[in-house]
Amino acid sequence: MWAGWEDSAVPPGRFGDYLRELRGLLDAYGYEPVARYGQFGHGCLHMRIPFPFDRGDAGVDEFRRFTHDAAELVMRFGGSFSGEHGDGQARADLLPALYGDQVIEAFRRLKSLFDPRGRMNPGKMIDPLPRTEGLRLGKGYAPRETVELHFSYPHDDGRFADAALRCVGVGDCRGHAGGVMCPSYRATGDEEHSTRGRARLLFEMIEGTYRTDEETPVSQGWRSPEVKDALDLCFSCKGCKSDCPVDVDMATYKAEFLSHYYSGRLRPAGHYTMGRLTLWFRAAHLAPPLINAASHAPLLGALVKRVAGLEPGRPAPRFARRRFTDKIRVRTRRESATSHSVTSVAGSASSGFPHSVHPPVVLFADTFGDNLQPSVLDAAVVVLEDAGYRVRVPR
Ligand code: SF4
Repeated sequence: MWAGWEDSAVPPGRFGDYLRELRGLLDAYGYEPVARYGQFGHGCLHMRIPFPFDRGDAGVDEFRRFTHDAAELVMRFGGSFSGEHGDGQARADLLPALYGDQVIEAFRRLKSLFDPRGRMNPGKMIDPLPRTEGLRLGKGYAPRETVELHFSYPHDDGRFADAALRCVGVGDCRGHAGGVMCPSYRATGDEEHSTRGRARLLFEMIEGTYRTDEETPVSQGWRSPEVKDALDLCFSCKGCKSDCPVDVDMATYKAEFLSHYYSGRLRPAGHYTMGRLTLWFRAAHLAPPLINAASHAPLLGALVKRVAGLEPGRPAPRFARRRFTDKIRVRTRRESATSHSVTSVAGSASSGFPHSVHPPVVLFADTFGDNLQPSVLDAAVVVLEDAGYRVRVPR
């Protein structure tokens, strides 16, 4: 689904008739399904259309013909093809039909008063480039799906190239207030460290027009250090997955990219330590006081952090003497021995609240809570049992 005819508007009283005729035009081109929304009360229609850009030149030509026909239709209804968003290069070459040559010439002269050398937005409104020029897809688009993917991308036909096309450049990730997306942009203010900037790099990495001899920042494909650098500050917080209007899921794309980038190579130390925390935590649990003493000793602690790839300015975490899961297991055993009121499901330990008034709930003890702050999980059990739930903890 693509923008291109996403912002037409007609007088509200004629909106119904316009919709019906536009439906006929879409049918004539075989465009189904089409996403439609907008401010219908004001006669403004937003829509996404499945233009066949994957058919190369023929698809681009069809896009040009459809937008021409749709522009004629909207003008017949006394409307405009830019109801709310503005024209830009996407529609500016249609403007002479809407305003006439005399008005366009007046626009040109007015702009030249402020911009005599034509340096502001060249090719956009005055003497615009064709709307088919500089499209992301179309001519030359031949994405390189050269690797076996680790994720299934069920909403993108299983293709990383389609996932990399999701971003349409709205730029919500560049906001500074509300929501989560995108913390790395909020900290740096750099496009490169925004969800949109990363999506753009991934698109360039995988699209075919860079399959030339020319050296570009992304010409090494999945091995491009520039792409890795742009993804480096992504926290994988998944803020974009929930906040982005087109559901860009950069955390997944980052995991996919890094696995190919490092394939057959040594990774930074932090990947082995942070990536295998569960394992290290299990080992540390054999002697928590000893590990705590070693990791907080001035010299040894600094060495441990350095080897582990940890930030030297941050204190190392302290391991709890007893994990939450150990405690709950002991408690379950004890209660099973003394009472038959506790039922247990295979593979789980159960808290002993005997008079639960609600169905059982499952509490997943996360690695950090279980090993570092079991008191949080203890408190969760107290709250849930107090509310009448029996808590089950999977092994
Ligand atoms: S997952 Fe990465 S790109 Fe997405 S909001 Fe978080 S930091 Fe930004």
